[in-house]
Amino acid sequence: MIVKIAPLSASELQLLLGALKAANANEKVSDSELLAFEKKALKYIADRRRNRIGLGARHIWGNAEEMDLAVLRKIWIEAGKGGVGGISEYRSKRGMFCPIPPISLPSKNPMVVVHSRSDFFDWLFARAVANSQWLLFVKCQLCGKVNLRRRARVESRYCTKKCQKAAGLEKILAGADQIDFEAWLLKQPETLPGRLQMQLARIEKSKSAPRKSLG
Ligand SMILES: [Zn+2]
Repeated sequence: MIVKIAPLSASELQLLLGALKAANANEKVSDSELLAFEKKALKYIADRRRNRIGLGARHIWGNAEEMDLAVLRKIWIEAGKGGVGGISEYRSKRGMFCPIPPISLPSKNPMVVVHSRSDFFDWLFARAVANSQWLLFVKCQLCGKVNLRRRARVESRYCTKKCQKAAGLEKILAGADQIDFEAWLLKQPETLPGRLQMQLARIEKSKSAPRKSLG
């Protein structure tokens, strides 16, 4: 039989974004964000018929309200760190090996049973990989945050247009001696990010320093 691994809906993509953010060590989500995400995940599981998901009888989910938040944070990091690594390391390979929790067979559109946050993450992530939606997620090479982009691209590397632009500026600044900065700067509609301004100031300073005479 042919089993269907359905693509994620828009709200499921948001749920996976929450899970990836909670698992991203470079992006410490606030305690309230973490708890709000936890609630969202449980609400999703509670709607078992619609979402074709259930909590297994021997689950080890535990009540977040009775848990130390540092522990909860660690569990979500463990659950999703493979996915966070995957969206940066495997995107050029266009796929990866994905564990999936138990699914009901035989069924063309099987239900899934999750026993832990790790199972929960695996299921959403596997569905995203199966349908190339994981490429919508990017771990930013500039700021380290995870985000959901509008289009799925293998070559995406930045979380937002802003970071993409800032990274472009850094590249240009790295080759600073070859271009006319003043002319280029006048064309920029926005103010430069702080660290680029500092870099620019350094370059300007070195330009205006008197040159050593030859001989
Ligand atoms: Zn970024």
